[in-house]
Order: sequence, then structure tokens, then C-alpha cells
Amino acid sequence: MKRIVLASGNPGKLAELRALLARHELELVPQAELGIAAAVEDGADLRANALLKARHAAAASGLAALADDSGLEVDCLGGRPGVHSARYAGPEATAADNSRRLLAELAGVPAARRGARFRCVLALVRSAADPEPLIAEGVWAGRIAEAPRGSGGFGYDPLFIGVTDGRTAAELPADEKNRLSHRGRALAALSVALAALAPT
Ligand code: IMP
Repeated sequence: MKRIVLASGNPGKLAELRALLARHELELVPQAELGIAAAVEDGADLRANALLKARHAAAASGLAALADDSGLEVDCLGGRPGVHSARYAGPEATAADNSRRLLAELAGVPAARRGARFRCVLALVRSAADPEPLIAEGVWAGRIAEAPRGSGGFGYDPLFIGVTDGRTAAELPADEKNRLSHRGRALAALSVALAALAPT
């Protein structure tokens, strides 16, 4: 089975991407398992960060690399936390800290004005200097709940309600979240390229 390195240390992303890649003959190895430190995410947007993370992991491992940069955009906050989603409540913030900050900022905002979306950019490079990196984006539209619900998923999932459903992302079975999510949609767009990476 062909190995590709995942340029992330986020266990939630790893679990979802592994499940989504299960039908490809690809083994996703998190970069920390190969002793690769996280890249500095100083890109201006999700796309720049995804690409710099993928190139960093490919350079350090000599393998093809997949990176995910994602975030939550809340309409009434002008798209925040966006690219800063992971550290919204501070450099050492936990998911619970970030969610508390978000809820505090939305205190008193009615349901009709709590629109939001998750956005995910995936970057796949076949080598560090790959001149044609493959980049795909997926969006999952919804709104922010009044209070957290559910224990699945990760990050802001207990606060995110997709448009088609009253359940939060943390209340969905994993396969259902993967079908609907920003990450699932971005990965579907990369599917042909991923299939071409696996041995025939
Ligand atoms: P980064 O891509 O490492 O900069 O971090 C993305 C951050 O966005 C995560 O740490 C979460 O806070 C949030 N995020 C991205 N995707 C999801 C998701 O599927 N569910 C919940 N939160 C997410």
C-alpha cells in the first residue's frame, strides 16, 4: 500500500481523512509519526497554509503529502474566526475555549443571523517541489447553535448545525458527517488524483 504523509497533528482530521481515504489503496501517516515538526502556518489564507504545510511534510519525508487547512466562517463576525479557527481563544486554546469565545460573541444574536460555514482546503503534492500541486476546496453551510450538543467529531462540531438538519455536526454519525462535510467534499474533488497515486 502506498504511504502518503498527512501534514497535520489534528487527530480529528486524521480520523476523518483516513475514513474518507479507505477506498483508496493509500496509507495516511501523520507527520509526527515520522518525526516531522509542524510547519509555521503563516500563510494569508487557507489555501496558502494548506500548500505550505504539504510542501513542508513532503520535503521532510520524501513522500507525497496531503494537507488540510480548514476553518469556521461566521457571517455576523465578518467571516471570523476563519483562518484563525484553531487558536481563536488564544495560542494554547482548546476546542472548548474556542467554542466558549464564539458563543460569548454571539450572545443575543437570533437564529436567523447565526449563519456560518465550514471551509476546507486540501493540498496534495507528489513531492516537495511538485510544480502542479492539486488543490481542492469544500464548503459546508449551516449556522451556529445556541449551546453545544453532541460528543462526536472535533473542534466546533458541537456548535455547528448544517443547513439540512437540526442536529449539530457532533450529533451526526461519523460517516454522515463525512458525507456532508467541507472535508468530505474537498476530498471527493481530489479523488481522481488520489486514485492515480495508488498502485494499480
Ligand atoms: P487548522 O486547519 O489546523 O488551521 O485548524 C482548523 C481548525 O478549524 C480546527 O482546529 C477546528 O477548530 C476548526 N475546524 C476545521 N474543520 C472542522 C470540523 O470538521 N469540525 C469542527 N471544527 C473544525
